[in-house]
Amino acid sequence: MGGGAPIYNRVALIGLGLIAGSMAHAMRRAGVVTTITGHARSEETRRIAREIGLVDEVFETAAEAVVEADLVVLAVPVGAMEAVMQEIAPHLKPGATLTDVGSVKQAVIATVAPHVPEGVHFIPGHPLAGTEHSGPYSGFATLFDNRWCIIVPGEADAGAVERLAGYWRALGAEVDMMDAAHHDLVLAVTSHTPHLIAYTMVGVAEHLRRVSDSEIIKYSASGFRDFTRIAASDPTMWRDVFLTNRDATLDVLGRFTEELFALQRAIRVGDGELLFNYFTRTRAIRQGIIEAGQDTAAPDFGRGGGGGQ
Ligand code: NAP
Repeated sequence: MGGGAPIYNRVALIGLGLIAGSMAHAMRRAGVVTTITGHARSEETRRIAREIGLVDEVFETAAEAVVEADLVVLAVPVGAMEAVMQEIAPHLKPGATLTDVGSVKQAVIATVAPHVPEGVHFIPGHPLAGTEHSGPYSGFATLFDNRWCIIVPGEADAGAVERLAGYWRALGAEVDMMDAAHHDLVLAVTSHTPHLIAYTMVGVAEHLRRVSDSEIIKYSASGFRDFTRIAASDPTMWRDVFLTNRDATLDVLGRFTEELFALQRAIRVGDGELLFNYFTRTRAIRQGIIEAGQDTAAPDFGRGGGGGQ
């Protein structure tokens, strides 16, 4: 496989959807692992994964997939991680690294860490990359290119942390380290609450009967289209995100609601200056994102897919 020296000999992907699939493609592109094994819950996903050769070997159970693996990646919805962890714990190789890609970190640590056997390095992670698509066909090798991957090192062995960081860099990502609580707050602001707002806006359009479905589709280029793309994201994943990142999301939503009321009032009383100043500030934030290379100024945002996380 590939050209570079292997960072891990054997990697096990538990879950074979968008993120795990993209990791498999990116690992092959980079040539940094020797063998990739995998497991998914349903027979259908396992069948497709075998058919398209997503990984080298697909196993019926997660327990079998992790045997002899040097790196095990939990790539299932956050709410499913504890059960998977309980199943695989007795089968993990001593000295192996265990990581996850869950969108929430405190809840994953609280449910997974108690089951991690002595001698296994548990290092949580989260690649900030995704699309609204899911399942075994949805992954692609470039998903992580120039995206951030956040690693939560905690008290983990420094050598094991550096090895995992090198692995993510080989997959195209840039790596940042932070603690789990800060991660969850940052993601509540940058990803989780915006998704909730998108879901709400699409829900509002559906209830507003004076605007017909055909008008929504016909005129959706004017801002609404991006909301519908985000609101098409996987319902299980996003249910789990809000159930497990409850406090940070509620904190950000509270602030959002206050701001929204302030803008609502400005519209009602005709305070154009407040609106203008507000929009000038937000435009500068957008400019900063483009300058940081995290998006493009192209009219379609340069996306075939897009946001996620
Ligand atoms: P996905 O495409 O829906 O894939 C999820 C995979 O997990 C599927 O292979 C599914 O198997 C398997 N699975 C679900 N429940 C399971 C269970 N109870 N036991 C065993 N396997 C189970 O999801 P994804 O987008 O790759 O998300 C995976 C993780 O990455 C989530 O924790 C999510 O928070 C995180 N993440 C997502 C994004 C994003 O934008 N999508 C970005 C960064 C991180 P079946 O197909 O057989 O059901």
